[in-house]
Amino acid sequence: MRFTEDMRHTTPEDNQAGLFSCNDGIYPAGGSLEGDDSLRPGNPPDKEAPVMPLDPHSDKALLHFITTEDPEETEALFAAAREVRSSHYGRDVYFRGLIEFSNYCENNCYYCGIRAGNRRLKRYRLSLEEILGCCRLGDLLGYRTFVFQSGEDPWFTDDRIEAMLEAVRGEFPDHAITLSIGERSRAGYERFFRAGANRYLLRHETASEEHYRKLHPRRMSLRERKQCLWDLKDIGYQVGAGFMVGTPFQTPKNLLEDLRFLRDLEPHMVGIGPFLPQEDTPFGNYPPGSFEQTLRMIALTRLLLPRALIPATTALGTISPLGREKGLMAGANVVMPNLSPKDVREFYALYDHKICTGDEAAECRLCMEGRIRNFGFEPNMARGDMAGWEARKFPRAGVIQQ
Ligand code: SAM
Repeated sequence: MRFTEDMRHTTPEDNQAGLFSCNDGIYPAGGSLEGDDSLRPGNPPDKEAPVMPLDPHSDKALLHFITTEDPEETEALFAAAREVRSSHYGRDVYFRGLIEFSNYCENNCYYCGIRAGNRRLKRYRLSLEEILGCCRLGDLLGYRTFVFQSGEDPWFTDDRIEAMLEAVRGEFPDHAITLSIGERSRAGYERFFRAGANRYLLRHETASEEHYRKLHPRRMSLRERKQCLWDLKDIGYQVGAGFMVGTPFQTPKNLLEDLRFLRDLEPHMVGIGPFLPQEDTPFGNYPPGSFEQTLRMIALTRLLLPRALIPATTALGTISPLGREKGLMAGANVVMPNLSPKDVREFYALYDHKICTGDEAAECRLCMEGRIRNFGFEPNMARGDMAGWEARKFPRAGVIQQ
């Protein structure tokens, strides 16, 4: 397949003809449009201004909506989230090109398929030339944000990450560069910022100390992870926090703590997806998180942080065939199609049955565009900084916060 300028756009008809459709996950939950008129393709979202169903600053109300399964309440919540989202972003959905450049990881999170202890996983690391190749392809496909994600890979020292950033920045001066490479020193984050990184994704995973201990080995620290987020924000990055819904031992109160943490940190981006088991991890036999509860957490986050950039995650698309579309209908406004080389995709195996592992980058891009248009949204390939964001040119150095 050759990539040309005119491949940057598809029509819904292209997609309905099945030209560009990714493999769907195996989870049956929530995949049907039966009886759900509000989600029928072509039905415009945000038809009527909804009445806000809750005070998003009331813990009692939040806890109620974390757990409610009442369909009317849930739809009122989603409608309110859509309304808030569209008041800042209209119908636009921002595209980010995701480059998973290493699946080596020195951590041993109990839920994660690329944990160090998973000896069955084939490991890979992309070379700088391969990484630049992904960027060039992404640029040709219209992407203006690259997201570089990896496990916590010690081979990628601060020097090597800096060199990678300088090479990418040199070739793509106007693109947004997002890093998602885990916990580093503040000095490292400052160097990366100076070398051209603009955004940083670091999910806090759970804001509860007690719950964090049940998901991670002793050597990992929630306090340090939270400190990284405060440092990143202070330096001048647009920062993404986030968490999984339905990890083992999670309670509704833990999810409330996640929302409270978001309220305090006020991140610019929030990644929320369902926990999905990976068979070679200690949590391989635990059930997946609830799809519906994940959607509610997205909607509540939208109400709490009206201007946040919230992705409809791959995990959502894995747990339900229309998961990402429903994520958008619950208030999300970003998608992150994969730009990694096809031959390594299956090895970035955070959880089982991950979708889009067999598609070319161009197919992922076109598939998402068709899916989005079918639901009345408008793909937007611009950088897509947070509404109202004013960039800082130089990092603020050495100020410790909180
Ligand atoms: N190493 C970086 C970090 O620590 O932020 C980025 C890579 S990490 C694998 C990306 C995210 O994948 C994690 O923050 C976690 O929320 C998510 N993840 C890992 N295992 C998962 C699972 N079994 N189900 C759903 N999401 C998972």
